[in-house]
Amino acid sequence: EKTGRDKASLLAARKALLGPNLSLSYREPLKIVRGEGVWLIDAGGRAYLDCYNNVAHVGHCHPHVVAALRDQIGTLNTNTRYLHDAIIDYAERLKATLPEGLDTFYFTSSGSEANEVALRMARAVTGRKGTLVIDWAYHGTTQGLIDVSAYKYKRKGGQGKPATTHELPLPEVYRAPADWPADEIGARYVAEAEDIIAGLVARGEVPAAFIAETIPSVAGQVFLPEGYLKGIHAAARRAGIVCIADEVQVGFGRVGGAMWAFEEHGVVPDIVTMGKPIGAGHPMGLVATRRDIAAAFANGMEYFNTFGGNPVSCRAAAAVLDVMEAEGLQENAAREGAYLLEAFRAMMAEDEQIGDVRGRGLFLGIEIVRDRASKAHNGARAGAIVGRMRELGVLAGTDGPFDNVIKLRPPMVFAREHSDLLLTVFRQALAETRGL
Ligand code: PMP
Repeated sequence: EKTGRDKASLLAARKALLGPNLSLSYREPLKIVRGEGVWLIDAGGRAYLDCYNNVAHVGHCHPHVVAALRDQIGTLNTNTRYLHDAIIDYAERLKATLPEGLDTFYFTSSGSEANEVALRMARAVTGRKGTLVIDWAYHGTTQGLIDVSAYKYKRKGGQGKPATTHELPLPEVYRAPADWPADEIGARYVAEAEDIIAGLVARGEVPAAFIAETIPSVAGQVFLPEGYLKGIHAAARRAGIVCIADEVQVGFGRVGGAMWAFEEHGVVPDIVTMGKPIGAGHPMGLVATRRDIAAAFANGMEYFNTFGGNPVSCRAAAAVLDVMEAEGLQENAAREGAYLLEAFRAMMAEDEQIGDVRGRGLFLGIEIVRDRASKAHNGARAGAIVGRMRELGVLAGTDGPFDNVIKLRPPMVFAREHSDLLLTVFRQALAETRGL
């Protein structure tokens, strides 16, 4: 391997050269020099099982994606002001995966840009400014998106909720009020949201957009209860609010049962935003919408994005779809996800601090608590489990406002042997961190 500088000198140089609020994973950071499939290889040649990286959707450095990139970057890379096949070929293929009506596309270079464009569209269509969000959401790194991301504006360094942002409570099934019947949880959260929307209407503060991740991720891998999204979309539309689905993390077949997570909720958003896995690591984002919304957005101001829609990115993205089809990766996500979900649920019998296990396809969350009765968040143990897993060669992460939810979203080429290795290591880390 080409290993380069040692870790200590890199760390010192990084501290000197890069902004101090960049974070590193793990107290003892890793220096990764190569990726292959589900594996990340460090400078010492040790291979780690990557159970966290949802960007390397079809596996790290998939040869088909690499070949497409290599071919296109050696031929041409320009912007969308020239005609090119790649952007149109890709748009046609993507359109075929989406519900009818979502047939018009804007290309960007990141998920943040996609969400910014989506919010601009909603504002153009409605002539209003406000945004309705779900508590603890994260939608991107620009000021405009920090302002609609409770995960940022409410936490350390944030400046609080702007007056134009309106929050709906995070609809957690696990933490729903104890007196709500299980089969009414979705409807109860919808009723709360309807009251909030009615209040906004009454005060003349109807927002332009409702934006939500179909599975709130930084909020702690929270799966929206049955009927929730349908109810919220209906209420929002009655008030004339544009519905945006942020599928930056959960799109592209990750949930197994559908290409787009919103499809499992029986809704068709007005706008869908995509990013992260779209180019398997090549930076790209995308907005899909209806023709009438795009027409309102095209109000005389040109849309131009220097890198968005360039032929290299579009070839990478098309290669991702090729691999997904050729290797049956959506089906794989459904199969492996169901296997993992069942195995992790079975482990609840071994450990009183596993409060909840939830997942769809290869998008899973394991919530660690102090005990099942109190459901008190136990971020210390969740962090210790993930730290021990890393020592044992498996990479995972924690998330949620209290960092107590172990988050798993491996590359989609995750096979049975990888699931079994993950389960073995998780079980050992669990056993070795008891008492925290
Ligand atoms: N939306 C969601 C749900 C995300 O998770 C992220 C990135 N973590 C973004 C948007 C922003 O994407 P990017 O970092 O590519 O700008």
